[in-house]
Amino acid sequence: MFFFRNNGDNAKLNVGLMGGTFDPIHMGHLVTAEEARQQFDLDYVVFVPTGTPPHKETGKISLPEHRYLMTSLAVMSNPYFFVSTVEINSEGPTYTIDTVRHFSCGEREGPGVFFITGADAILDIFTWKEYEKLLSLCTFIAVSRPGYSLDRFWDILDRNCPGMKHKVHLLEIPALAVSSTYIRERVTLGKTIKYLTPEPVEQFIKKHGLYLSGE
Ligand code: ATP
Ligand code: MG
Repeated sequence: MFFFRNNGDNAKLNVGLMGGTFDPIHMGHLVTAEEARQQFDLDYVVFVPTGTPPHKETGKISLPEHRYLMTSLAVMSNPYFFVSTVEINSEGPTYTIDTVRHFSCGEREGPGVFFITGADAILDIFTWKEYEKLLSLCTFIAVSRPGYSLDRFWDILDRNCPGMKHKVHLLEIPALAVSSTYIRERVTLGKTIKYLTPEPVEQFIKKHGLYLSGE
């Protein structure tokens, strides 16, 4: 892996990480990652599908290989987007702190790591493993998401991690109210999911009969 820009200025690379179940990946994820890439001058964005998500309580999650393949199909046309198997290949529950450590490769030498999350996920951050360490290792990009307000977030952040406000940046994105849950429900009901997710992902879902039973 290369950590420095190859353009003469030798600046550190900025890497965006986008974790998620991606069951399935959809336009909300992709628009979010692309906007974060531009606004924060990220050299690339790595999508990291979860293995056994510690925070997903309900329902059955699709096979990791299916979620990985759908994510790969979705990012195929973007030269700045990549997919990592680090979480789906790890045994047992996976935690963001471990993933961020993996990508930051030691704080000094490694690339600058930006963790991209939706507003719903950032509100949970204080329940995450070693969240203080996590805030020191990476910068968070918290993206607006319809239905979730970040108004309370700053007070809670100040109480739990004083002096860390500069490690979380808000990114307002034109509202895309799509979610994976919404897509799964539509497939179960036999409704179209065209334009909610890239076409190859739509075809993959059809081919493998995903989400038909609504379990
Ligand atoms: P589910 O409905 O199964 O929970 P999801 O659509 O929330 O799926 P996840 O895989 O849970 O997708 O989310 C991965 C990351 O993407 C999270 O940080 C989440 O907040 C963010 N995200 C998901 N959908 C959007 C959206 N429409 N706009 C902005 N961020 C989003
Ligand atoms: Mg979610």
